[in-house]
Parts: sequence; C-alpha cells; structure tokens
Amino acid sequence: MAPKKPLYEGKAKKLFEGPEPGTLIQHFKDDATAFNNQKKGIINGKGVLNNRISEYLMTRIGEIGIPTHFIRSLNMREQLVKAVNIVPLEVIVRNIAAGSFAKRFGVKEGKVLGHPIIEYCYKNDALGDPFVTEEHVFAFGWATPQELDEIRMYTFRINDFLCGLFMGVGIRLVDFKLEFGRLIEGDREFIVLADEISPDNCRLWDVATGYRLDKDRFRQDMGNVEDAYQEVAKRLGVMPKMDADSYVIEVNARVAKPKPKAKAKAKVAVKKIVKAKKK
Ligand code: 5GP
Repeated sequence: MAPKKPLYEGKAKKLFEGPEPGTLIQHFKDDATAFNNQKKGIINGKGVLNNRISEYLMTRIGEIGIPTHFIRSLNMREQLVKAVNIVPLEVIVRNIAAGSFAKRFGVKEGKVLGHPIIEYCYKNDALGDPFVTEEHVFAFGWATPQELDEIRMYTFRINDFLCGLFMGVGIRLVDFKLEFGRLIEGDREFIVLADEISPDNCRLWDVATGYRLDKDRFRQDMGNVEDAYQEVAKRLGVMPKMDADSYVIEVNARVAKPKPKAKAKAKVAVKKIVKAKKK
C-alpha cells in the first residue's frame, strides 16, 4: 500500500490525505503540550483513547442532528473525517469556573455559573490564542454573523447534550473547547463540528469526589494522567481492547499494581483468625 501523504502535523494530531477526495485521515498522537507549547510530554496510550472517545462523542452528537466532520473509525489511532475549512476560532463553553476563567475573574474554581458561558479565542499559537469578542470575529472576517449564530446554537445544544451524557457516567462537564469548519457540498456551504472532543480539550471532574479526569492532571503535574484518560473511556464504555500497536498494554501493566506479598500474607492470617473464631 502506498504511504499516506502527510498534510499537517499539530500538537496532538496529524492529518493525512484521505482515500477519497474531500476526506482526511486524522491521526491521534500521544504527544501532549500545555501553556502554549511551553510544556511538552507524552501520555502513553492517549492517542488511542482520544480516538475512541472522540469517535463515540462525535457519533452521539451526529445522532442528535448536529453535523460533524466524522465519517468512520479506521484503526486504533486514526479516523476518516471530511475535509473542512476550519473557522479560526476556539469556542469555549464553561459551566463551572475553572482554569483561565477562574484566574481572570478571581472566582474560586468549582463555582457553578448562573448559566453556561461561551467565549471565543482566535486560533493562533504565535499570539497565544487571544480571547476575542464577536466584534473581532466579524471585523476580521473569521466568520459571518449567520455562521456565528449557527456555531452558538450548535455549541449550546452540544453542551446540554454532553452535560447529560457525562452526568450519566458520574462525570461533571466543567468546560470544553470546540472547533468548527465550513463544509462545501455541491453549491452548499455549511458549518460542521470538527477537530476532537476528548479529555485533552474538556475539563471532566468526577461527580462524587471532584477528582480530575482530564488534561489538567498533565498541565498541573497531578500524576495518574493515563489512568484518568482510561477512566473516561471505561465509563463511556469505549475502552479499547489491548493492541500491539497501541501502548495500552504498557499503560495497563503500569496501572495494575501488584499487591505486596506482606498484604496478601496479612489477609490469609485474618482469614485464619476469623475461621478459628467461628469454630
Ligand atoms: P482555559 O481557558 O481555562 O485554559 O480552557 C478552557 C477549556 O478549553 C478547557 O477545557 C481546555 O481544555 C480547553 N482549551 C482551551 N484552549 C485550548 C487549546 O488550545 N487546546 C486544547 N486542547 N484545549 C483547550
């Protein structure tokens, strides 16, 4: 088979030319970056997990009538997507104060907001993705008022839907980032959800304990990063099966902590005592 033609390499994904015109192959890497590329690392198995999680969430979102770029999964790390012209905006939705929002407004992390808030950032690494208003979007021609209306409507619906979906598996959707693209089909051009939805671009907190199940574990050196991504996949019921190419075996091996011998011996001793007492 001819090698795939690389088109673009981003911080967490690579894009290759797709097998049919108008398609791309989206490849999920294990690379992780934070603070505008100042912090770099590898989260073993992340690409495999994000591929599955994003596939699942994009499919569910498609089922409620919101168009997405997702076509189908190809393998453990790759999915086939429609080629779109990306709107250069990061659309951030916040349900609970956290991250840069909590800092900017001096509010305590965890404060539930009166209603979900949408913020826009101009997608530009060199400028550090600055926050912008609708006025900037129209003045710079990044999207038309009609396109931004559609993006807002889709974003609120996605937020409602995902809040419920995650709540069903004991996870609070604190905030997340979406990207949209323009899809041209014949003489029609319309807005579709693009990029990915995964613990890389969502804040996900366990409902019962507040435990962080997202990239903040990497950003803030909280440890157990791989376990957190796996936990999200497990709860959504999309945990990938072990695969030679995926590193998931390696991750699982590290996560499975063998019980210390002493602990096992103590358990046997306790059992003996209980038995003796029963007699
Ligand atoms: P904050 O502005 O608090 O840093 O991020 C808000 C939300 O958007 C978080 O869920 C964060 O993961 C996501 N987000 C914002 N900017 C980016 C970005 O450049 N890349 C990724 N992966 N997520 C982002």
